[in-house]
Amino acid sequence: MITRSELKSAQRRALEYLDRAHVVMTAKERERIEVSDFGLSKLEHFGVQTLTYFNTDRICAKQIVLFPNQICPEHWHPRVGTDPGKEETMRIRWGLVYLYIPGASLESAAMDRIPERKDYFTVGKEVILGPGDQITLAPGTVHWFQAGPEGAVIDDYSTTSRDVLDEFTDPDIVRTTKIVD
Ligand code: ZN
Repeated sequence: MITRSELKSAQRRALEYLDRAHVVMTAKERERIEVSDFGLSKLEHFGVQTLTYFNTDRICAKQIVLFPNQICPEHWHPRVGTDPGKEETMRIRWGLVYLYIPGASLESAAMDRIPERKDYFTVGKEVILGPGDQITLAPGTVHWFQAGPEGAVIDDYSTTSRDVLDEFTDPDIVRTTKIVD
C-alpha cells in the first residue's frame, strides 16, 4: 500500500524521468502515470511506474520508469486460455537496466543489490541493457529487473498485457496497488 501523497510524488518523479528521456506525451497521458508497489509497501525498493499507451486484445505499448535501484520483482506472464502468455520486448530509452532470466544462478554482486526478500529472486543470468539495447522475452520466461543507480526509462512492447494475472515468485506480492489517504 502507498499513501496518496506517495502516489502523487512518484507520479511527479516519473514524469521528470520521462521528460529527461524526451518521451512525448499528451497532457492527458501526463495525468495517468500508474504506480505499482506490488503490495510490498516499499516503493523505493520494489515498484514500477508505468504509462500504458494502448492495450488492445492483441498488442500493448507502455513506458516503464524505474527509480534508482528500484526492482520489478521476479515474475512471468502465464498462459491465459488459448493465449500462450505475454511476449514482451524491452528496449532501454534512458539509463541502465540489469535484467535477470533463467540460465545461471545469481552472482553475489547481483544478490547484494537486492535490499531484502532475497529468497524470492531465483533466476540469475544477467543481461545489462543500456540506451538502445533491447531484448525479447518469450511467453512464460521468468524474469526480474533492476534499474542502475540513476534509474531507467524503458520502452515496453508486448502482446496483450494482463497485469493482474502475472505470477510472482514472492507469495506476498499483490499486483493491484492499494492507495490510502
Ligand atoms: Zn514482465
